[in-house]
Amino acid sequence: MKTFFSTLVMTLLAVSLLSGQVMEKQARKYAKTIIDDDLTRHLTLLASDSLEGRETGKKGQKMAAEYIKNHFESLGLQAPVDGSYFQKFNLYQTYRGEAEMVVNGKTIKNLDQMVYWANVPFEKNEIEIVYVNKAQEEDLEGINAEGKFLAFKADGQFTPVLKSLEEAGAKGAIVFAEDSSRMNMVLRYGRYYATHGSLSRTEPSKDGLASVVIYQELADDIFGKSLSELEIGETAKAELYAEINTEVIETENVLGYLEGTEKKDELIVLTAHYDHVGIQDGKVYNGADDDASGTTAVMEIAEAFVKAKEAGHGPKRSILFMPVTGEEKGLLGSAHYAENPVFPLENTVTNLNIDMIGRIDSVHKDDREFVYLIGSNRISTELHEISEAMNDNYTKLELDYTYNAEDHPDRIYYRSDHWNFAKNGVPIIFYFNGTHADYHQHTDTVEKIEFDLLKKRTDLVFYTAWEIANREERLTIDEVEEETEE
Ligand SMILES: [Zn+2]
Repeated sequence: MKTFFSTLVMTLLAVSLLSGQVMEKQARKYAKTIIDDDLTRHLTLLASDSLEGRETGKKGQKMAAEYIKNHFESLGLQAPVDGSYFQKFNLYQTYRGEAEMVVNGKTIKNLDQMVYWANVPFEKNEIEIVYVNKAQEEDLEGINAEGKFLAFKADGQFTPVLKSLEEAGAKGAIVFAEDSSRMNMVLRYGRYYATHGSLSRTEPSKDGLASVVIYQELADDIFGKSLSELEIGETAKAELYAEINTEVIETENVLGYLEGTEKKDELIVLTAHYDHVGIQDGKVYNGADDDASGTTAVMEIAEAFVKAKEAGHGPKRSILFMPVTGEEKGLLGSAHYAENPVFPLENTVTNLNIDMIGRIDSVHKDDREFVYLIGSNRISTELHEISEAMNDNYTKLELDYTYNAEDHPDRIYYRSDHWNFAKNGVPIIFYFNGTHADYHQHTDTVEKIEFDLLKKRTDLVFYTAWEIANREERLTIDEVEEETEE
């Protein structure tokens, strides 16, 4: 005869199993709405030549944003940014323009004998130069850097030295390149930046450190003696002029919001970047894998959750579907969101980020049913366990954690949009297929996408999101270890 207690336990267990089975049945049912045809249709459109490689701020990026928005709108997702699907923000495209330095009546031409190496505009003005050897701590002893240009001999990477001079109050720096091959490299970079410019979230400021990289031989023109004869503290005067041209570029993240049925303040964020690198040398960089594949996955997962909700099986927690812009320019869209979150980051339970899931890498050419997972165990062990359980139960892919190793030289954990959530303590998983010969080439095209794999990996993200959205308790966070960005 059963005791009352064991009957109770059996009953409770049966109830929870039953609800587990019901949930599982529902999850499988809505995963089936993620179909090859839809994945193919979205991805083919996003990666088509007409979208011109979706470069941030350009026409193709706007067309992609519009396409994703229309999809979200047709699904009936809410537009959460004051009634809009777009979170718009400005970026600053900065070009280094004309620059020159005049010493003792002689003009030193930019991109020829020198490279103006800063996004700091400089009106034609006299500058005072002080020689400080290699600008090491001992070299700077007794030197008043305030408002001066400090001239030093580079020895390897000079960027850290520039930083320290700025902190010391210098107005600028004259960097003598260590040899002509280093100088040629700087000249190449200088010419590249002059034509391509650089993109950032902050406007160039006059207050930064102006810097000039220059051939060592020019010490004679500036100081009247060669570098080897110069002593610390010797001074010279010159005239410097540098023009910086800035273009303001408006861009946007696309946000579609599905409100939860029970715990609607808690939020799961699904991201993938929909921008890519545009047109280069007349060739469209289609970015089919990078990251039309992830964008497509997010669009299809959104549809699956909407269908579930329409049938009365909506997720308990809310879900934000957010294809982001500006990833290729330095994770700019996700950085903007993390600094201006539409929903509080404290209520953000997890971020699942997808960047390239439609291909395989050479490591897996004989066992193609895999995906790299990065970050799943870094903030919440529970997230990692759920992710593994979902894969065991449903998708049965090989989960490869190679890139999750803390000392992996590729530092993938810091290189896609999830990082902007992770650095704020939000548990994340990054889904990735590794790199291949077509990575960041114009040959990353649709016909190379393996749609059956894209479907399987999309399913894994869907099942993981489904479980986290519907489980009773919010994900628990491990004891926090400080993460620092290098
Ligand atoms: Zn990329």
